[in-house]
Amino acid sequence: LAVPSLIERAVQLFSQFPGIGEKSGRRMAFHLLQQPEAFSRSLAEVLVALRRDLRFCKRCNGLAEGDLCPVCMDPFREMSSLCVVESAEDMLCIEESGAYRGIYYVLGGYESPLEDRSIPESSLEKLKNRIKEESRIKEVILATNPRVEGELTSYRVCEYLRLHECRCRISRLSYGLPVGGAIGYADRVTLHAALESRRDLEMENS
Ligand SMILES: [Zn+2]
Repeated sequence: LAVPSLIERAVQLFSQFPGIGEKSGRRMAFHLLQQPEAFSRSLAEVLVALRRDLRFCKRCNGLAEGDLCPVCMDPFREMSSLCVVESAEDMLCIEESGAYRGIYYVLGGYESPLEDRSIPESSLEKLKNRIKEESRIKEVILATNPRVEGELTSYRVCEYLRLHECRCRISRLSYGLPVGGAIGYADRVTLHAALESRRDLEMENS
């Protein structure tokens, strides 16, 4: 096989991205070769900076360039409603939809017995402490993904918060979202509707 090894290495790296196979990886590599060199240089710089300079917000676990993310630094957000999401990516999607003006908390995990995954205990504890410390939080909106794991994740958070006597209102997005879909694929109108028609979530025995 007489393929230049740099091409091979590029394809091997590109094809590690979700949804990118060897074929697409090769297209990306050849596309790069057709662009001015400056493009490759900016791409490389951004990739390195992304990994080096982005960290998790101390307060909400969202993506931040300093200690706090732009949402946590914004004094004009509605501090009474806290939206709980599974990942920083979900937070970004809701933020981009413009449908929500409150604050966030990123769980950094979800419940899935099949995959042997669960929300880190430390994350639940941090959430609980935050709700207790920030007395302005009146409502927790669980914006987990519309699939079985999201449902389990919501119940786990709700159960944990009630067990630790967090007395705020707890609601969950009511989805016009396709079941099995993901927050990342929802459009602005759908997310807005899901937020508007959220319903209270209570444990069966409370
Ligand atoms: Zn934050």
